Amino acid sequence: MGKSFDIGLEQLAGTGVPEEKAPASESGRYNVGLSVEGAQPGMAVPQGQTFYLETFGCQMNDHDSEKVAGVLVARGYRQVERPEAAKVILYNTCSIREKAAQKVFSRLGELRPVASEEEISGKLGAASTGAQAGVFLPQKSAQPGMAVLHEANHPSQRKIVNAGGGKIIGVLGCVAQQEGEGIFERAPWVSLVCGSASYRKLPQLIAELEAGNRRVTGLDTDTDETFETEITRRDNPWRAYLTIIEGCDKACSYCVVPFTRGPERSRASVSILEEVRQLAEAGYSEMQLLGQTVNSYADPSARKMRFSELLTAVAEVRGIRRVRFTTSHPRDFGKDIVEAIDAHPTICDQVHLPVQSGSTAVLRAMARTYTREEYLEKIALLKGARRPISISTDVIVGFPGETEKDFEETLSLLDEVQYDNVFAFKYSPRPNTPSLKMADAIPEEEKGRRLAILMDRQREIQRVRNEKLVGETFEVLVDGKSRRENQWSGHTSSNRVMNFTSPEQELLGDYVQVKVVSAMQNSLMGEMVGRT
Ligand code: SAM
Ligand code: SF4
Repeated sequence: MGKSFDIGLEQLAGTGVPEEKAPASESGRYNVGLSVEGAQPGMAVPQGQTFYLETFGCQMNDHDSEKVAGVLVARGYRQVERPEAAKVILYNTCSIREKAAQKVFSRLGELRPVASEEEISGKLGAASTGAQAGVFLPQKSAQPGMAVLHEANHPSQRKIVNAGGGKIIGVLGCVAQQEGEGIFERAPWVSLVCGSASYRKLPQLIAELEAGNRRVTGLDTDTDETFETEITRRDNPWRAYLTIIEGCDKACSYCVVPFTRGPERSRASVSILEEVRQLAEAGYSEMQLLGQTVNSYADPSARKMRFSELLTAVAEVRGIRRVRFTTSHPRDFGKDIVEAIDAHPTICDQVHLPVQSGSTAVLRAMARTYTREEYLEKIALLKGARRPISISTDVIVGFPGETEKDFEETLSLLDEVQYDNVFAFKYSPRPNTPSLKMADAIPEEEKGRRLAILMDRQREIQRVRNEKLVGETFEVLVDGKSRRENQWSGHTSSNRVMNFTSPEQELLGDYVQVKVVSAMQNSLMGEMVGRT
């Protein structure tokens, strides 16, 4: 699965949650948990069809893509590595910041149809379905004698053919939801636009395209359904992602998620636990529970499990050795979650608790529903846990009206909390959000300055914190093998990246004990001292 990350220079490279990648095997791809059992009886399966799927953004998107891939595999499609080789090209998009959204349109631009010189000069007419109609080549591979259509002969004037040699190009996810049918205007060669709240309709939409429909959309957010599939094509053979709550009701003033992912809807605990049992039997030992605000989970079934009870129940499933969850909203983060971590070593000692700002005034303008002091009370709960819990956060700098003093308060919060990782972003004005109309916008240059200061401060905090770990031994789930001999990598329970040496021949997927010999700001170096 192709993967792009919206981190650029804005985000601290770290061991933490949002930008973490599934490891690549030696061959560069895992095809685990892949089957076609989900194909429905009587459904015409287009054998031999291929799809390319590229994912932008967060882990929720990564996991949605795993499910989308599952749906396509169930219909007889095969995943390929390059868009040129695919019949169906899908982009699962992110619009959390403007840069991320722009990236999608630049990808779509690369797929703009090319036409022959005759078409350009108008000899074949604008509505031609001839030579190049329906044939989409990445611009980079445009042949001599072919040219990208310009305004006077724009592809929107042509009939786009999805059958035969034509490709189906689809935009999924947050940009799809945000831009809607406007995507057809900007990139008329797109034929599928579907937001995440409508993914349940995907099989039907794909069937319509296969039947020759030119354009299909799934854009409803008015749903109480979650996207569950019979089959999910999982990319990592040890860690399984499970969405337990979709959407968001929090309405932070800067955020597009409530618009693009719809209202909060939780999946029944019985169904979650059943899937966890199946995954454990299939050999997955680490579960990561996902949700934009995962700890706002509200069990719709009669059991009415609280989030902390669900965590405990997942941790107790036979074969499960690690349970992670992300992202937690400070408002719904209570003592019961820390107690569950205390009681179950299987629940990882890692919590991602986005603060966004250290200034109560800015938090109020952001509509985050807590003050600096209330946030620090949650941190105190975590610090009072029986074992050290690694804490990470998200910060936005340069929110409208953020004064130098507000920014200083964010820096002092970093000093006070001593995070193990910080994902920092320049504020990006987003469509439909209340903050768009707020006064006192901070100039880009100033946002950049603040971001650089914050990153420097956090780098130093991480360097010092990691150095204190030298000499300690941690359990590591091995998920990577270097080309260099005896070099391996994995993650600790606190989600730190550990690179280590071991003369063992095969360790992938094993849990081993590693002693830290040196530390960098984003990772640890160690040597294996035993197995667990
Ligand atoms: N639901 C999570 C929470 O409440 O913290 C975060 C979800 S969001 C996908 C991930 C992060 O993107 C946020 O925590 C925030 O720091 C950042 N973000 C969201 N909207 C943003 C914006 N308009 N500009 C800059 N960063 C933004
Ligand atoms: Fe966006 Fe706030 Fe919801 Fe997080 S809690 S997804 S930042 S609206």
